[in-house]
Amino acid sequence: MDAGNELLRRAAVNPQVLQWHTWAALKPGPSLVVLGAVHGNETCGAYAILRAIDDLQHGRLLLRRGRLTLVPVANPLAFGQRTREGERNLNRRFMPRDDARDYEDHITRQLAPVLASHEALLDLHSFHTPGEPFAMVGPRNNEGTREPFMRAQEESELARALGVNQIVEGWLDVYDRASRARGKPLDDEGIGTTEYMRSQGGYAVTIECGQHDDPAAIRVAEHAIRGALALLGMADVPAPPRFSGPAARLQDVVLRESAADQLAREWNSFDVVRAGDLIARRADGREVRAAYDGSVLFPYPEAAVGQEWFYLAVPG
Ligand SMILES: [Zn+2]
Repeated sequence: MDAGNELLRRAAVNPQVLQWHTWAALKPGPSLVVLGAVHGNETCGAYAILRAIDDLQHGRLLLRRGRLTLVPVANPLAFGQRTREGERNLNRRFMPRDDARDYEDHITRQLAPVLASHEALLDLHSFHTPGEPFAMVGPRNNEGTREPFMRAQEESELARALGVNQIVEGWLDVYDRASRARGKPLDDEGIGTTEYMRSQGGYAVTIECGQHDDPAAIRVAEHAIRGALALLGMADVPAPPRFSGPAARLQDVVLRESAADQLAREWNSFDVVRAGDLIARRADGREVRAAYDGSVLFPYPEAAVGQEWFYLAVPG
């Protein structure tokens, strides 16, 4: 077993310890933190970060300026189990609390200050259905109360530098709408790593690198790390081509109401729909049709009842 795999193996066998690696150049510059395996079965980020650690340790990658922190396995318990969650989804209620009640609360209490001490976050994920990689950004600049933000320009530039050709924006808005549809009050449930980062004055991009366990997703994640380092002037590495197309703006989320609800076909993220197209059928025969021209995102045919079944987006 090589040293890198040993590092991941240690994370899996001792989930009571988190590890991260920081390089600090003496020349001032931006600070970037990169997370892998926030969801334990999404391993591409862990492997890509491992590669970056190895490259930095052996001088194949040089930090020119600023500060870089690499967290290969953000959720060791879930990673060891090869499951999305340890005791719960780490990417929800990502708010440090003194009275940590579950495993992910303990993780959050350690990781939150790490995130808050950097300007930019790159969070590496993967998805369960086939599809193209994409990056997710947060809200546009706003002075609202839910997710006030002033760094949308930097965040968009980061998303466009990662080597992917799809960008999705506006997640928390739509998540809040889904909460209301479930009859839940607005709470911190929708606050994940990126929302927390923005709440601390930073900016953050989630990249969904491809299908879980597809080796190609690891390469996407490696390109993303290098793309971020190149954009921020932190390392002399070749930058992937910049994406200049429009973002897809999340518009609606549809919840699965019954285990007998069925998607009308096998949807992949970014499949285009026209207003009136049949997307799904409810258990009682009601049809779910697109209300506008747009695209289907994050379809999850086997979503639990009451959970997000699929999203609809419009060109941003
Ligand atoms: Zn994920």
